[in-house]
Amino acid sequence: MENRKARRISQEQRERLNTRVAALRAPIFAYKRSLHPTDDFTPLVSDVCWIPDILDTTLTGDDKSFVALVEDLPDRLPQLSTEIRRKRAEQIASILPWDGATPDSLELATAWFTCWWCNVALRHQEVFKHMCFRLRPPEVTKPQTQLTEFTGNPWVWPTEKILFAEGTSKATRKVVLACGGDPDKMTCRELDDIPCRIAWFQGALSLQVIDWRQLVRSS
Ligand SMILES: [Zn+2]
Repeated sequence: MENRKARRISQEQRERLNTRVAALRAPIFAYKRSLHPTDDFTPLVSDVCWIPDILDTTLTGDDKSFVALVEDLPDRLPQLSTEIRRKRAEQIASILPWDGATPDSLELATAWFTCWWCNVALRHQEVFKHMCFRLRPPEVTKPQTQLTEFTGNPWVWPTEKILFAEGTSKATRKVVLACGGDPDKMTCRELDDIPCRIAWFQGALSLQVIDWRQLVRSS
């Protein structure tokens, strides 16, 4: 009898959480749709749901405070997104092995990273979204575990698993020098704007024309 009652409460909690997360999703998706294609950061539902006050109200707040939270969310999202991006950019920039590296350094063509698990070369925008870095934090409690079922895992940022891609960076330096640029100053966008195409021989009879990113990613 007691067990059945406990199960029913748990089921009610799950349903309420499911409904609440669905209510949070709507303004987050609307915000995502409003972003310009050149914006390099898009918050995930999990990024927003795991912000401490949003998490608390979603898990334990009464209906009135939750409705107020959802109503305020569209106004809060631009600032929240900027803040999440700023923190992530600072963390990624701290991985660069360069003296005086700042988040602005991430724009340099030579700023490449790699994932400890899958070893792919990543620009910082790709690090923002890379699936391997979406880990469940160890302190997750039961209601929060249910939240991960509805929103996905929060980002823990295992910065020790985000590595500077030295080989890719060195290859990019060579490309920048070959284009007459300064590898310590040229940004990714500036290098993109140079109409440079590279002939890539794959055996004696196969020639492929690739861009600089394809070349350095394969180095
Ligand atoms: Zn990976």
